[in-house]
Amino acid sequence: MRTAIYPGSFDPVTLGHLDIIRRASVMFDRLIVAVMHNQNKQPMFSVEERMEFLRCTTSQLPNVEIASFDGLLADYARQQGACAVVKGLRAVSDFEYEFQMALANRKLNPELDTVFLMTSAEYMYLSSSVVKDIAVHGGSVAGFVPDGIMQDIVRRTRKEG
Ligand code: ADP
Repeated sequence: MRTAIYPGSFDPVTLGHLDIIRRASVMFDRLIVAVMHNQNKQPMFSVEERMEFLRCTTSQLPNVEIASFDGLLADYARQQGACAVVKGLRAVSDFEYEFQMALANRKLNPELDTVFLMTSAEYMYLSSSVVKDIAVHGGSVAGFVPDGIMQDIVRRTRKEG
């Protein structure tokens, strides 16, 4: 049983994330999409909301689980018996940081490899920050986030604002 973890903020999940989830889910027996509790970032959506968006988005993918974690990814991966971490790469600017993290994680947990999946061209520009900017300013997020969660994102963003 090969388990992989796809970690991120997912604040909120975008079509770019979903593309990586779909592609990674066929490469591994079990894929855990793990929402990170990140003290350094001030999220727009709570961990529970982000997990709910992810659950709704991945309900058709039977080997995908939604979870959250605090602390070191290398430790969490060991707990889950995972052999790989999945990361998406959009541009060269993502690379340096991800390269550093991959090497640090391997040192902390030698059984853990990082698998990088290149973004699909149509999602190259897409990030959760772009989605939040559009939603906060009243624009349409259609084509940026999965259809099933679009209304919820708009409603919750307006409530915030
Ligand atoms: P972001 O706010 O940049 O979307 P996340 O922490 O939620 O950040 O991203 C989680 C993972 O998904 C990271 O590995 C990131 O590189 C990847 N990712 C985010 N957006 C895309 C995209 N459009 N295409 C491919 N990978 C992506």
